[in-house]
Formats: sequence, C-alpha cells, structure tokens
Amino acid sequence: MIVTITMNPSIDISYPLGEFKVDTVNRCDIARKTAGGKGLNVSRVLHQLDDPVTATALLGGALGEFIKENLAATGISFAFSKIAEETRNCVAILHDGKQTEILESGPIVSEAELVAFHQDLDTLLREATVLSISGSLPKGAPTDYYNQLLDMAKAKNIPVVLDTSGASLLAAVQHANQPYLIKPNAEEVASLLGIPEITNLTDLKISLQSELFRDIPVIVVSLGSDGAFVKADDKFYKVDIPKIEVKNPVGSGDSTVAGLVSGIYHKQPLTDYLKKAMVLGMLNAQEATTGHVNLANYDTFYRQIKVTEV
Ligand code: ADP
Repeated sequence: MIVTITMNPSIDISYPLGEFKVDTVNRCDIARKTAGGKGLNVSRVLHQLDDPVTATALLGGALGEFIKENLAATGISFAFSKIAEETRNCVAILHDGKQTEILESGPIVSEAELVAFHQDLDTLLREATVLSISGSLPKGAPTDYYNQLLDMAKAKNIPVVLDTSGASLLAAVQHANQPYLIKPNAEEVASLLGIPEITNLTDLKISLQSELFRDIPVIVVSLGSDGAFVKADDKFYKVDIPKIEVKNPVGSGDSTVAGLVSGIYHKQPLTDYLKKAMVLGMLNAQEATTGHVNLANYDTFYRQIKVTEV
C-alpha cells in the first residue's frame, strides 16, 4: 500500500464573500470546512484512483477529531497520531475575484509526540511500498525531521516522494538518503540554489544540473498551465499540456503528486506516470473542491499530453 504523511494538517475554512469590507462586519452564508493539508489532498486523489492508501497525520483536540470524522466519511483508511495541542484552522476569504488567506502556524509538537509518531510509522511502513511526504513541519519538529523519515524508508527499501519547501527540502536534498522523487516549482528550485529566480527553461535545465540534484532519481518541476519540466537520472523532459478552463487550481500540485505516487506504486514507466500526474493536476484545477478530480475526462486529457526529451 501507499502511506501518506501530513505533519501539519489543518481545517480549511473558506468564506465566499462578494466583497470584503475591512474594519467592519462581513457576513457569510455558506462557510465550507474541510480536512486540509497537502498529504490529505494526495490521499483523497489516490483514493479516487482506487489505489490502496493509508493517511497519517498528527492530530489534536476537537479540530483533530473533525479531520478524523471527515476522512472516515470518505472511506480513506487512516492511522493518525494524537498530539496534545489543537490542530490548526486555515482560513481563505474569497472576495472580489481574489483570495485572502489567514494561516495559523499550528500546534507545537513535543519530542515525545514525535517519537510516538516515529514508532507508529515504523509499524505502518512494514506494509508500505511507497511513502508520500507532503507539506510543512509543525513547530517543535527540527528542520531536518524529514531526514529521519527518509532513513526509516531507506532501511525498508521504500521509495519516498517528497513535496515540501524551504529549509526542510534543502535538508532532504543534502541528506545521504535522498528522496526518490521531489516536486518543487521553479521558485523552489531557485530558492534551493540561492538564486533570485529562474525565468526560462534553459536556465531551469542548467539549474537542475547542479551538484545538489545529482543523486535524486526524479525531479518534477511543475509549471502550472505550462505543464512540467523533468530531470530523470541524466535525461531531461518537457511535458506539454493542453489549455483548459480553470475553476480553482488550489491543490493541483497535490493531485499531481498523487499521480506520481500512483505511477511509482504501479511500477509504470516514467512517461506514463508523468502524463497521469499532469492529467490529475488539470482535473483538480477544473473543480471547485481542493483535492477532488472528475475522472470522466481522464482519457481525453491523457491523449493530449506530450512528453518530449529535451
Ligand atoms: P503547485 O501548486 O504545487 O505549484 P502547479 O501549479 O504547477 O503546482 O500545478 C500542478 C499541475 O497541475 C501542473 O503541472 C498542471 O498539470 C496542473 N495545473 C495547474 N494549474 C493549471 C492551469 N492553470 N491550467 C492547466 N493545468 C494546470
């Protein structure tokens, strides 16, 4: 089976408002509240694909219970670890065609809670063939915490798909036991290399030839509506996707990760799973709900995706 990890999940609350008025009362008729966090989005899409997935996360308090119930209702199998502090809320105010977000940094996790999570995960990984780690670390976890999980997976010969950013991504790519696949965007590649920005594919290719990325087998740089640019061993590929109508691209990166993880789980060739990942990202972008895809359009999009060695 596939195991997903979300170390800092949230309840995602969205308030659709026609207009957002500052320094006064705004009333909202429909507030949508869902179990959020990148790894949980990945789990939802894997579940829709009928792939066997178990979601793990650190959960605390009544809001943690809400996430449990929300996932249980979808039929996704889960093995959550309990923490003392309350799981966070993340609020998105949708107004005037814009999105204003308020993100709580979330609970502080104790060392004992991290040890307990580690032990739970160790047991769970006996059944796993792929490990998917997504999102930020909670306060209390060291920056290089994911390296411990990479070591655990390596000892069991389980490939890891890591989708994170900042210091924890840098620590993982510099670690002896590196992830099998990472999915940064161009901004994150620039940040890893300490350069201001990467503005074109020529520069992106040069950037991915850096020593820093030498031993990571697959790097998928997702480019939103421009598809993706990929380094796999010593080869480079541009993945082109068709133009589509977009409703809400939030969670498209997580859906893409689900496709990559699914492809690795099914031992598909690289080209096939890159197409799968792109289609899932696109299908998510066409839905209002984050981490949801309408698979009815899968084959039509799949046929239009081109993977070219460059
Ligand atoms: P992230 O949110 O992690 O930066 P991206 O925005 O690159 O991820 O989206 C991941 C994938 O989802 C893209 O590679 C593409 O397949 C699809 N996607 C995202 N936004 C769009 C869009 N506007 N039009 C078409 N496809 C999109």
